Amino acid sequence: MTEVLKLLTRNVGKPNSTHVDAYMGSGGYESLMTVLHKWTPEQTLNEVKAANLKGRGGAGFPAGLKWSFLPKGKEVLKYLVCNADESEPGTFKDRLLIENDPHSILEGIIIAGWATQAAGCFFYIRGEMPAGARIFQKAVDQAYAKGFLGKNILGSGFNFDVWVSRGAGAYICGEETALMDSLEGKRGQPRLKPPFPAGYGVYGVPTNINNVESYANVPLIIRNGAGWYTAIGSPSAPGTRLFGISGHVKRPGVFELPSGVTLRELIYEHAGGILGDRPLKAVIPGGSSVPVLRADQIDVTMDPDGLKSVGTMVGSAGVIVMNDSVCMVKALLNLMEFYAHESCGQCTPCREGTHWLELIVRRLEEGGGRPSDCDLILDVAGNIMGRTICPLGDAAAMPAISFVQQFREEFEAHAREGRCPMRDVRMTAAI
Ligand code: SF4
Repeated sequence: MTEVLKLLTRNVGKPNSTHVDAYMGSGGYESLMTVLHKWTPEQTLNEVKAANLKGRGGAGFPAGLKWSFLPKGKEVLKYLVCNADESEPGTFKDRLLIENDPHSILEGIIIAGWATQAAGCFFYIRGEMPAGARIFQKAVDQAYAKGFLGKNILGSGFNFDVWVSRGAGAYICGEETALMDSLEGKRGQPRLKPPFPAGYGVYGVPTNINNVESYANVPLIIRNGAGWYTAIGSPSAPGTRLFGISGHVKRPGVFELPSGVTLRELIYEHAGGILGDRPLKAVIPGGSSVPVLRADQIDVTMDPDGLKSVGTMVGSAGVIVMNDSVCMVKALLNLMEFYAHESCGQCTPCREGTHWLELIVRRLEEGGGRPSDCDLILDVAGNIMGRTICPLGDAAAMPAISFVQQFREEFEAHAREGRCPMRDVRMTAAI
Protein backbone atom coordinates (compact mmCIF):
# COMPACT_ATOMS: atom_id res chain seq x y z
CA MET A 1 0.00 0.00 0.00
CA THR A 2 1.27 3.49 -0.84
CA GLU A 3 2.41 5.31 2.28
CA VAL A 4 0.29 8.26 3.40
CA LEU A 5 2.64 11.25 3.37
CA LYS A 6 2.63 14.03 5.91
CA LEU A 7 3.93 17.02 3.97
CA LEU A 8 1.04 19.43 3.57
CA THR A 9 -0.73 17.80 6.50
CA ARG A 10 2.35 17.65 8.76
CA ASN A 11 0.82 19.94 11.36
CA VAL A 12 -2.77 18.71 11.19
CA GLY A 13 -3.85 17.34 14.55
CA LYS A 14 -0.88 18.76 16.47
CA PRO A 15 -1.61 20.87 19.59
CA ASN A 16 -1.96 24.61 18.85
CA SER A 17 -1.31 23.92 15.17
CA THR A 18 -2.91 27.23 14.16
CA HIS A 19 -0.62 29.34 16.37
CA VAL A 20 2.39 31.07 14.86
CA ASP A 21 4.73 29.90 17.65
CA ALA A 22 3.83 26.23 17.06
CA TYR A 23 4.30 26.71 13.32
CA MET A 24 7.70 28.35 13.82
CA GLY A 25 8.67 25.60 16.26
CA SER A 26 8.52 23.09 13.41
CA GLY A 27 10.53 25.18 10.94
CA GLY A 28 7.72 27.45 9.83
CA TYR A 29 8.61 30.75 8.10
CA GLU A 30 12.20 29.55 7.50
CA SER A 31 11.45 29.33 3.76
CA LEU A 32 10.26 32.93 3.85
CA MET A 33 13.44 34.00 5.66
CA THR A 34 15.52 32.15 3.05
CA VAL A 35 13.97 33.89 0.06
CA LEU A 36 13.89 37.34 1.65
CA HIS A 37 17.54 37.25 2.73
CA LYS A 38 19.23 35.01 0.15
CA TRP A 39 17.16 34.72 -3.03
CA THR A 40 16.08 37.25 -5.61
CA PRO A 41 12.42 37.33 -6.68
CA GLU A 42 13.48 35.79 -10.02
CA GLN A 43 15.26 32.88 -8.29
CA THR A 44 12.20 32.26 -6.15
CA LEU A 45 9.87 32.25 -9.13
CA ASN A 46 12.20 30.01 -11.14
CA GLU A 47 12.37 27.44 -8.31
CA VAL A 48 8.56 27.17 -8.22
CA LYS A 49 8.52 26.97 -12.02
CA ALA A 50 11.11 24.18 -11.97
CA ALA A 51 9.03 22.27 -9.41
CA ASN A 52 6.18 22.18 -11.95
CA LEU A 53 3.65 22.85 -9.20
CA LYS A 54 0.28 22.31 -10.83
CA GLY A 55 -2.63 24.39 -9.52
CA ARG A 56 -4.77 22.45 -7.07
CA GLY A 57 -8.03 24.30 -7.62
CA GLY A 58 -9.21 22.21 -10.55
CA ALA A 59 -7.69 23.59 -13.74
CA GLY A 60 -4.18 22.27 -12.97
CA PHE A 61 -2.31 25.19 -14.60
CA PRO A 62 1.39 25.43 -13.58
CA ALA A 63 1.62 27.96 -10.74
CA GLY A 64 5.11 29.29 -11.49
CA LEU A 65 4.23 29.92 -15.12
CA LYS A 66 1.10 31.76 -14.01
CA TRP A 67 3.17 34.00 -11.71
CA SER A 68 5.47 34.85 -14.61
CA PHE A 69 2.53 36.36 -16.57
CA LEU A 70 2.40 39.30 -14.14
CA PRO A 71 4.27 42.46 -15.16
CA LYS A 72 7.77 42.55 -13.62
CA GLY A 73 9.14 44.99 -11.05
CA LYS A 74 7.85 46.40 -7.78
CA GLU A 75 7.00 49.77 -9.30
CA VAL A 76 3.98 48.14 -11.03
CA LEU A 77 1.07 47.72 -8.60
CA LYS A 78 0.03 44.05 -8.52
CA TYR A 79 -2.11 41.88 -6.29
CA LEU A 80 -2.38 38.24 -5.42
CA VAL A 81 -5.59 36.43 -4.57
CA CYS A 82 -5.89 33.22 -2.59
CA ASN A 83 -9.00 31.36 -3.69
CA ALA A 84 -10.40 29.79 -0.53
CA ASP A 85 -13.95 29.63 -1.90
CA GLU A 86 -13.91 25.83 -1.80
CA SER A 87 -17.44 24.99 -2.93
CA GLU A 88 -17.15 22.23 -5.53
CA PRO A 89 -19.44 19.43 -4.26
CA GLY A 90 -17.32 16.56 -2.90
CA THR A 91 -14.33 18.81 -2.13
CA PHE A 92 -13.24 19.62 1.42
CA LYS A 93 -9.43 19.50 1.51
CA ASP A 94 -8.65 23.24 1.58
CA ARG A 95 -10.83 23.58 4.65
CA LEU A 96 -8.62 21.05 6.46
CA LEU A 97 -5.55 23.23 5.83
CA ILE A 98 -7.25 26.53 6.64
CA GLU A 99 -8.61 25.29 9.95
CA ASN A 100 -5.51 23.32 11.02
CA ASP A 101 -2.45 24.97 9.47
CA PRO A 102 -3.22 28.52 8.27
CA HIS A 103 0.40 29.68 8.54
CA SER A 104 1.60 27.23 5.88
CA ILE A 105 -0.83 28.87 3.44
CA LEU A 106 0.13 32.34 4.60
CA GLU A 107 3.86 31.62 4.26
CA GLY A 108 3.26 30.38 0.69
CA ILE A 109 1.30 33.54 -0.11
CA ILE A 110 4.05 35.86 1.20
CA ILE A 111 6.71 33.94 -0.75
CA ALA A 112 4.56 34.26 -3.88
CA GLY A 113 4.28 37.97 -3.11
CA TRP A 114 8.08 38.24 -2.97
CA ALA A 115 8.51 36.27 -6.21
CA THR A 116 6.06 38.50 -8.08
CA GLN A 117 6.78 41.71 -6.12
CA ALA A 118 3.06 42.11 -5.45
CA ALA A 119 1.71 44.66 -2.96
CA GLY A 120 -0.61 42.30 -1.14
CA CYS A 121 -3.02 39.40 -1.25
CA PHE A 122 -6.78 39.11 -0.87
CA PHE A 123 -7.70 35.89 0.93
CA TYR A 124 -11.24 35.21 -0.35
CA ILE A 125 -12.90 32.57 1.80
CA ARG A 126 -16.23 30.85 1.30
CA GLY A 127 -18.99 32.42 3.39
CA GLU A 128 -20.02 29.06 4.86
CA MET A 129 -16.63 28.67 6.53
CA PRO A 130 -16.87 31.18 9.41
CA ALA A 131 -14.48 29.18 11.62
CA GLY A 132 -11.89 29.12 8.83
CA ALA A 133 -12.24 32.89 8.32
CA ARG A 134 -11.71 33.53 12.05
CA ILE A 135 -8.72 31.16 12.25
CA PHE A 136 -7.08 32.65 9.17
CA GLN A 137 -7.62 36.23 10.34
CA LYS A 138 -5.97 35.33 13.64
CA ALA A 139 -3.03 33.85 11.75
CA VAL A 140 -2.73 37.05 9.71
CA ASP A 141 -2.75 39.14 12.92
CA GLN A 142 -0.02 36.93 14.41
CA ALA A 143 2.07 37.21 11.25
CA TYR A 144 1.86 41.03 11.41
CA ALA A 145 2.91 40.92 15.07
CA LYS A 146 5.96 38.80 14.19
CA GLY A 147 6.97 41.07 11.32
CA PHE A 148 6.16 38.56 8.55
CA LEU A 149 3.62 40.99 7.07
CA GLY A 150 3.53 44.76 6.77
CA LYS A 151 6.30 47.22 5.97
CA ASN A 152 9.94 46.21 5.52
CA ILE A 153 9.34 42.52 6.30
CA LEU A 154 12.23 41.10 8.39
CA GLY A 155 14.40 44.04 7.35
CA SER A 156 14.30 43.06 3.67
CA GLY A 157 12.71 46.26 2.40
CA PHE A 158 9.76 44.21 1.07
CA ASN A 159 6.25 45.43 1.95
CA PHE A 160 3.30 43.06 1.75
CA ASP A 161 -0.23 42.96 3.21
CA VAL A 162 -2.95 40.33 3.44
CA TRP A 163 -6.66 41.10 3.67
CA VAL A 164 -9.29 38.46 4.56
CA SER A 165 -12.55 38.76 2.64
CA ARG A 166 -15.60 36.52 3.10
CA GLY A 167 -17.83 35.40 0.24
CA ALA A 168 -21.58 35.08 0.55
CA GLY A 169 -22.12 31.50 -0.55
CA ALA A 170 -22.31 31.54 -4.36
CA TYR A 171 -20.61 28.61 -6.12
CA ILE A 172 -19.80 30.82 -9.09
CA CYS A 173 -17.58 33.03 -6.91
CA GLY A 174 -15.01 30.22 -6.99
CA GLU A 175 -14.47 31.19 -10.66
CA GLU A 176 -11.55 33.59 -10.62
CA THR A 177 -13.11 36.63 -12.28
CA ALA A 178 -16.48 36.26 -10.50
CA LEU A 179 -14.47 36.12 -7.29
CA MET A 180 -12.76 39.39 -8.23
CA ASP A 181 -16.06 41.14 -8.94
CA SER A 182 -17.38 39.85 -5.61
CA LEU A 183 -14.24 41.16 -3.86
CA GLU A 184 -14.89 44.58 -5.37
CA GLY A 185 -18.38 44.55 -3.87
CA LYS A 186 -20.18 43.83 -7.14
CA ARG A 187 -22.49 40.95 -8.01
CA GLY A 188 -20.24 37.90 -8.44
CA GLN A 189 -20.38 37.18 -12.17
CA PRO A 190 -17.58 35.88 -14.41
CA ARG A 191 -15.94 38.45 -16.67
CA LEU A 192 -15.40 38.06 -20.39
CA LYS A 193 -11.76 37.16 -21.14
CA PRO A 194 -9.54 38.70 -22.45
CA PRO A 195 -8.43 40.75 -20.62
CA PHE A 196 -7.05 38.05 -18.33
CA PRO A 197 -6.44 38.70 -14.61
CA ALA A 198 -2.65 38.93 -15.11
CA GLY A 199 -3.31 42.16 -17.04
CA TYR A 200 -6.60 43.35 -15.52
CA GLY A 201 -7.59 41.75 -12.23
CA VAL A 202 -8.86 43.05 -8.89
CA TYR A 203 -9.72 46.78 -9.17
CA GLY A 204 -8.25 46.68 -12.67
CA VAL A 205 -4.79 45.88 -11.32
CA PRO A 206 -2.67 42.94 -12.65
CA THR A 207 -3.56 39.98 -10.41
CA ASN A 208 -2.47 36.40 -9.88
CA ILE A 209 -4.86 33.92 -8.31
CA ASN A 210 -4.04 30.52 -6.83
CA ASN A 211 -5.83 28.01 -4.69
CA VAL A 212 -5.17 27.36 -0.97
CA GLU A 213 -3.42 24.00 -1.49
CA SER A 214 -1.25 25.47 -4.27
CA TYR A 215 0.09 28.18 -1.95
CA ALA A 216 0.63 25.67 0.89
CA ASN A 217 3.02 23.71 -1.35
CA VAL A 218 5.33 26.70 -1.90
CA PRO A 219 7.24 26.71 1.45
CA LEU A 220 7.97 22.98 0.98
CA ILE A 221 9.39 23.59 -2.49
CA ILE A 222 11.62 26.42 -1.25
CA ARG A 223 12.84 24.44 1.76
CA ASN A 224 13.57 21.15 -0.06
CA GLY A 225 14.17 22.27 -3.64
CA ALA A 226 12.43 21.65 -6.94
CA GLY A 227 14.38 18.39 -7.49
CA TRP A 228 13.03 16.92 -4.25
CA TYR A 229 9.51 18.00 -5.18
CA THR A 230 9.50 16.59 -8.70
CA ALA A 231 10.67 13.20 -7.37
CA ILE A 232 7.35 12.81 -5.51
CA GLY A 233 4.29 11.59 -7.38
CA SER A 234 3.94 11.28 -11.14
CA PRO A 235 6.00 13.40 -13.58
CA SER A 236 2.92 15.08 -15.06
CA ALA A 237 1.74 16.22 -11.61
CA PRO A 238 4.55 16.26 -9.04
CA GLY A 239 4.04 16.40 -5.30
CA THR A 240 1.28 15.02 -3.15
CA ARG A 241 -2.45 15.56 -3.53
CA LEU A 242 -4.99 15.98 -0.80
CA PHE A 243 -7.65 13.49 -1.87
CA GLY A 244 -10.97 14.06 -0.17
CA ILE A 245 -13.10 10.91 -0.28
CA SER A 246 -16.80 10.92 0.53
CA GLY A 247 -19.89 8.83 -0.16
CA HIS A 248 -20.14 5.07 0.30
CA VAL A 249 -16.75 4.30 1.83
CA LYS A 250 -15.97 3.02 5.31
CA ARG A 251 -13.37 5.71 6.12
CA PRO A 252 -14.27 9.00 4.43
CA GLY A 253 -11.77 11.82 4.88
CA VAL A 254 -8.75 13.58 3.42
CA PHE A 255 -5.70 11.48 2.49
CA GLU A 256 -2.37 12.99 1.43
CA LEU A 257 -0.81 10.70 -1.16
CA PRO A 258 1.53 10.92 -4.15
CA SER A 259 -0.44 11.86 -7.25
CA GLY A 260 0.31 8.52 -8.94
CA VAL A 261 -1.72 6.41 -6.49
CA THR A 262 -4.47 4.37 -8.16
CA LEU A 263 -8.13 5.06 -7.67
CA ARG A 264 -8.67 1.45 -6.59
CA GLU A 265 -6.06 1.74 -3.83
CA LEU A 266 -7.52 5.02 -2.69
CA ILE A 267 -11.00 3.53 -2.31
CA TYR A 268 -10.23 0.01 -1.09
CA GLU A 269 -7.10 0.55 1.01
CA HIS A 270 -7.02 4.11 2.32
CA ALA A 271 -10.77 4.69 2.54
CA GLY A 272 -11.40 1.15 3.83
CA GLY A 273 -13.55 -0.16 0.96
CA ILE A 274 -17.24 0.14 0.19
CA LEU A 275 -19.77 0.83 2.90
CA GLY A 276 -21.83 -2.25 3.72
CA ASP A 277 -19.42 -4.36 1.64
CA ARG A 278 -21.74 -3.83 -1.31
CA PRO A 279 -20.48 -3.72 -4.90
CA LEU A 280 -19.03 -0.45 -6.17
CA LYS A 281 -21.17 1.14 -8.86
CA ALA A 282 -19.68 4.51 -9.81
CA VAL A 283 -17.03 7.07 -8.85
CA ILE A 284 -16.75 10.77 -9.55
CA PRO A 285 -12.97 11.22 -9.19
CA GLY A 286 -12.42 14.99 -9.07
CA GLY A 287 -15.36 16.97 -7.75
CA SER A 288 -18.91 16.99 -9.10
CA SER A 289 -18.09 18.62 -12.44
CA VAL A 290 -15.86 15.88 -13.89
CA PRO A 291 -17.11 12.85 -15.88
CA VAL A 292 -18.21 9.85 -13.81
CA LEU A 293 -16.49 6.43 -13.97
CA ARG A 294 -17.94 2.91 -13.78
CA ALA A 295 -16.68 0.34 -11.26
CA ASP A 296 -14.54 -1.36 -13.94
CA GLN A 297 -12.56 1.83 -14.63
CA ILE A 298 -10.81 2.37 -11.30
CA ASP A 299 -7.44 0.78 -12.14
CA VAL A 300 -6.02 4.15 -13.14
CA THR A 301 -3.55 6.52 -11.52
CA MET A 302 -4.99 9.65 -9.92
CA ASP A 303 -3.04 12.07 -12.10
CA PRO A 304 -3.98 13.95 -15.27
CA ASP A 305 -2.61 11.26 -17.63
CA GLY A 306 -4.20 8.33 -15.79
CA LEU A 307 -7.63 9.89 -15.54
CA LYS A 308 -7.50 11.23 -19.09
CA SER A 309 -7.05 7.65 -20.32
CA VAL A 310 -10.57 6.86 -19.03
CA GLY A 311 -12.10 10.14 -20.19
CA THR A 312 -12.19 12.10 -16.98
CA MET A 313 -10.08 14.53 -14.91
CA VAL A 314 -8.45 14.91 -11.51
CA GLY A 315 -10.19 18.30 -10.99
CA SER A 316 -10.22 19.23 -7.31
CA ALA A 317 -9.41 15.63 -6.22
CA GLY A 318 -12.75 15.30 -4.44
CA VAL A 319 -13.66 11.61 -4.89
CA ILE A 320 -17.36 10.72 -4.58
CA VAL A 321 -17.98 6.98 -4.25
CA MET A 322 -21.34 5.35 -4.99
CA ASN A 323 -22.30 1.75 -4.24
CA ASP A 324 -24.93 -0.31 -6.05
CA SER A 325 -27.80 1.18 -4.06
CA VAL A 326 -27.48 4.49 -5.93
CA CYS A 327 -29.89 5.40 -8.71
CA MET A 328 -27.74 7.16 -11.29
CA VAL A 329 -30.69 9.18 -12.58
CA LYS A 330 -31.41 10.47 -9.10
CA ALA A 331 -27.71 11.18 -8.54
CA LEU A 332 -27.59 13.19 -11.77
CA LEU A 333 -30.78 15.02 -10.81
CA ASN A 334 -29.06 16.10 -7.61
CA LEU A 335 -26.17 17.55 -9.63
CA MET A 336 -28.41 19.21 -12.22
CA GLU A 337 -30.47 20.92 -9.51
CA PHE A 338 -27.24 22.31 -8.12
CA TYR A 339 -25.89 23.67 -11.41
CA ALA A 340 -29.24 25.13 -12.50
CA HIS A 341 -29.41 26.92 -9.15
CA GLU A 342 -25.81 28.18 -9.29
CA SER A 343 -25.77 29.41 -12.92
CA CYS A 344 -25.28 33.18 -12.82
CA GLY A 345 -27.53 33.56 -15.86
CA GLN A 346 -25.28 35.63 -18.11
CA CYS A 347 -24.98 33.07 -20.95
CA THR A 348 -28.07 31.65 -22.63
CA PRO A 349 -26.69 28.09 -23.13
CA CYS A 350 -25.86 27.82 -19.41
CA ARG A 351 -28.89 29.66 -18.02
CA GLU A 352 -31.41 27.81 -20.20
CA GLY A 353 -29.48 24.56 -20.67
CA THR A 354 -28.90 23.79 -17.00
CA HIS A 355 -32.58 24.47 -16.30
CA TRP A 356 -33.70 22.17 -19.13
CA LEU A 357 -31.30 19.43 -18.06
CA GLU A 358 -32.79 19.55 -14.58
CA LEU A 359 -36.35 19.30 -15.99
CA ILE A 360 -35.56 16.35 -18.30
CA VAL A 361 -33.67 14.35 -15.66
CA ARG A 362 -36.42 15.08 -13.13
CA ARG A 363 -39.17 13.77 -15.37
CA LEU A 364 -37.15 10.59 -15.97
CA GLU A 365 -36.70 10.05 -12.23
CA GLU A 366 -40.33 10.85 -11.44
CA GLY A 367 -41.82 8.46 -14.00
CA GLY A 368 -42.67 10.81 -16.87
CA GLY A 369 -39.59 10.13 -19.00
CA ARG A 370 -39.64 9.56 -22.75
CA PRO A 371 -37.59 7.07 -24.83
CA SER A 372 -35.88 9.99 -26.56
CA ASP A 373 -34.73 11.62 -23.30
CA CYS A 374 -31.21 10.16 -23.31
CA ASP A 375 -30.52 11.69 -26.70
CA LEU A 376 -32.17 14.92 -25.64
CA ILE A 377 -29.88 15.18 -22.58
CA LEU A 378 -26.84 14.58 -24.79
CA ASP A 379 -28.07 17.19 -27.28
CA VAL A 380 -28.78 19.89 -24.68
CA ALA A 381 -25.53 19.25 -22.79
CA GLY A 382 -23.55 19.12 -26.05
CA ASN A 383 -24.90 22.56 -26.96
CA ILE A 384 -23.69 24.01 -23.64
CA MET A 385 -20.14 22.65 -23.94
CA GLY A 386 -17.63 25.29 -24.99
CA ARG A 387 -20.29 27.96 -25.60
CA THR A 388 -20.20 29.89 -22.34
CA ILE A 389 -18.21 32.65 -20.66
CA CYS A 390 -16.95 30.50 -17.80
CA PRO A 391 -16.43 26.80 -17.04
CA LEU A 392 -19.72 26.39 -15.12
CA GLY A 393 -21.49 25.49 -18.35
CA ASP A 394 -19.03 22.67 -19.05
CA ALA A 395 -19.13 21.69 -15.38
CA ALA A 396 -22.85 20.98 -15.72
CA ALA A 397 -22.65 19.41 -19.17
CA MET A 398 -19.80 16.97 -18.50
CA PRO A 399 -21.54 14.99 -15.74
CA ALA A 400 -24.81 15.00 -17.72
CA ILE A 401 -23.12 13.53 -20.81
CA SER A 402 -21.01 11.01 -18.90
CA PHE A 403 -23.84 9.76 -16.67
CA VAL A 404 -25.95 9.00 -19.76
CA GLN A 405 -23.05 7.48 -21.71
CA GLN A 406 -21.83 5.31 -18.82
CA PHE A 407 -25.25 4.25 -17.46
CA ARG A 408 -27.54 4.59 -20.48
CA GLU A 409 -29.40 1.35 -19.78
CA GLU A 410 -30.46 2.64 -16.37
CA PHE A 411 -31.71 5.92 -17.86
CA GLU A 412 -33.64 4.03 -20.57
CA ALA A 413 -35.15 1.69 -17.97
CA HIS A 414 -36.61 4.72 -16.16
CA ALA A 415 -38.38 5.80 -19.36
CA ARG A 416 -39.44 2.25 -20.29
CA GLU A 417 -40.89 1.37 -16.89
CA GLY A 418 -42.31 4.80 -16.10
CA ARG A 419 -40.75 4.63 -12.62
CA CYS A 420 -37.40 4.49 -10.89
CA PRO A 421 -36.32 0.85 -11.20
CA MET A 422 -33.76 1.38 -8.44
CA ARG A 423 -36.43 2.06 -5.84
CA ASP A 424 -36.48 -1.52 -4.52
CA VAL A 425 -32.67 -1.74 -4.43
CA ARG A 426 -32.47 1.48 -2.44
CA MET A 427 -34.95 0.15 0.10
CA THR A 428 -32.99 -3.11 0.45
CA ALA A 429 -29.76 -1.15 0.96
CA ALA A 430 -31.38 0.97 3.64
CA ILE A 431 -32.53 -2.16 5.51
FE1 SF4 B 1 -22.75 32.51 -15.72
FE2 SF4 B 1 -23.10 29.98 -16.56
FE3 SF4 B 1 -22.17 31.84 -18.22
FE4 SF4 B 1 -20.64 30.98 -16.21
S1 SF4 B 1 -21.36 29.76 -17.93
S2 SF4 B 1 -20.92 33.09 -16.89
S3 SF4 B 1 -22.21 30.66 -14.62
S4 SF4 B 1 -24.22 31.79 -17.24
